[in-house]
Amino acid sequence: MIEYLRRAYGIDRVAIVDTDCHHGDGTQDIYWHDPDTLFISIHQDGRTLYPGSGFLNEIGGPNAVGTTINIPLPPHTLRMKAFCMPSKKVVLPILEDFKPDLIINSAGQDNHYSDPITNMNFSARGLCRTDPPAQGRHRRSGRRVFHRRRPALCQYRHHPGHGRPGLQPFARAGLRSQTLPSERRYHAQHQTTCAKVLQTWRQREAVAEALRARPGCDKRSRKIFYDTDQYYEVQAETVRICDDCGGALRIESSSDRSISILAVHLPRKACPVCRKQAYDWYAEGDAKQFDHIFLQDNTEDLYLTKKKKGSPEQ
Ligand SMILES: [Zn+2]
Repeated sequence: MIEYLRRAYGIDRVAIVDTDCHHGDGTQDIYWHDPDTLFISIHQDGRTLYPGSGFLNEIGGPNAVGTTINIPLPPHTLRMKAFCMPSKKVVLPILEDFKPDLIINSAGQDNHYSDPITNMNFSARGLCRTDPPAQGRHRRSGRRVFHRRRPALCQYRHHPGHGRPGLQPFARAGLRSQTLPSERRYHAQHQTTCAKVLQTWRQREAVAEALRARPGCDKRSRKIFYDTDQYYEVQAETVRICDDCGGALRIESSSDRSISILAVHLPRKACPVCRKQAYDWYAEGDAKQFDHIFLQDNTEDLYLTKKKKGSPEQ
């Protein structure tokens, strides 16, 4: 959707504020190296909920340091007042600094207290932006980010049934929206988290400088288990450190199913050096015997693919 809006309407800088209870790991991954896309996820702490990611030290790739922001919050304490503190102290100041052309709210409603697979403590009235006038300052705060008229705002909601006014609020017996005894302790934790996030944002240029002091390319690797098909994928990622664009990116993928893939990605507004690097990687892929080779050129809106003779289809 974002790339379509960019092409159709000439939008450049985009901010995504993800308020689903789960960390937005997929969105984070897609925009990890994009300095023009600010991704902010406010979610239940990954130590207590799938997908187990979204920690403070996940801040974006070396060409986009600071444009990934994670605000993990402990389970059971995320009433509107806990949600509003990050909005007021972290999200709004960062949005002011980033100056996006478009803000997208990726709005899951699974932080409702009756949701069976999460552990948050939102009420339906706190979640719903079409409520009658707010009864307290916290609900007003909750609407600060998402009711701004400028810049443009787009809201995408998951789980539309959850938290909708009119639904029976006590879907599960015994559940109550309540203040837990531990909430005071968690309040202090929220404050510490917000202070750390803001500190990282303010120091992002110094952090980027340190990361980019190593010339050449930055690498990371990860192992992913697909429980649907019961296999592991190992990814080795290399990004060219670049002062002029998001950097040419290559991902080598192998799995215990013996299929090897080289995926090369060129960002929007790629500089000539990264452009050459990406096409060189694509050309060299044949000699390295990858089964499948892809190149996604976002500058030219081009997608190339080739495969080794005799390689199985994906
Ligand atoms: Zn570049």
